Amino acid sequence: LVRFENVVKRYGDNVVLDELDFNVLPGQRVTLIGPSGSGKTTILRLLMTLEQVDDGVIWVDGDPLSHMYRNGALVRASQKHQRGVRKKIGMVFQQLNLFPNMTVRRNITEAPVHTLGMSRDEADERAAELLEMVGLADRIDEHPTRLSGGQQQRVAIARALAMRPEILLLDEVTSALDPELVAGVLDVLREIARTTDITMLAVTHEMGFAKDVSHRVLMFDRGQIVEDGPPERIFSEPREERTKSFLHAVL
Ligand code: ATP
Repeated sequence: LVRFENVVKRYGDNVVLDELDFNVLPGQRVTLIGPSGSGKTTILRLLMTLEQVDDGVIWVDGDPLSHMYRNGALVRASQKHQRGVRKKIGMVFQQLNLFPNMTVRRNITEAPVHTLGMSRDEADERAAELLEMVGLADRIDEHPTRLSGGQQQRVAIARALAMRPEILLLDEVTSALDPELVAGVLDVLREIARTTDITMLAVTHEMGFAKDVSHRVLMFDRGQIVEDGPPERIFSEPREERTKSFLHAVL
């Protein structure tokens, strides 16, 4: 479903992703772990086209995400195509970023109505279903400022799912929350993992969560994959020194 092919990303002289190569299969739930600055967030930002690659190609469903260069040669993607590919991807960020001046309902329905052309009624119905799933059905007419951080993140998850993405990107979605609010958000994500076949790429420091929901863990260091395998193996029998010392520091 997703393929990074020799992807290079630099900020000035800082090579953040160094000829990165990996595939994610449909329905696979992948957790990205590794030290701060190893390039994990950059991978999600590239997939959201918030950043551009310097070389290499990111493929989604066999199509390039946007115009990209591979060994100096341009790989083209049509406009229509780029919009289509982007709709397949939803993201929830570390920072709480709901629209503060809109109700929870509007936060969830704006994009489906304006981008997918869904009718208001259908979008409202879907919003109610999604809020039920994240345990906030009774807050549909509130403004986000009246919700806790954990509740806001649960609405953000519902908002991302309202677009019916094939791929859900999660960037440290619990890092900005008070500790007592973390479990509620992780439970919602566990439930989504259990009841849907959505493809997930998650950057997280919650190793218990990673163990429970992911099929696969990728350990990053300095823009490269150091280790790739099922969570049971990576967490209990890491092969690489860098993985061992990282896990030792966080567990
Ligand atoms: P963290 O867990 O701290 O979020 P990370 O593994 O997600 O780390 P990235 O956020 O992908 O790491 O950052 C990788 C490197 O890219 C870091 O060295 C960071 O300083 C650098 N970087 C990220 N964004 C920018 C930017 N907009 N401009 C310049 N450098 C950047």
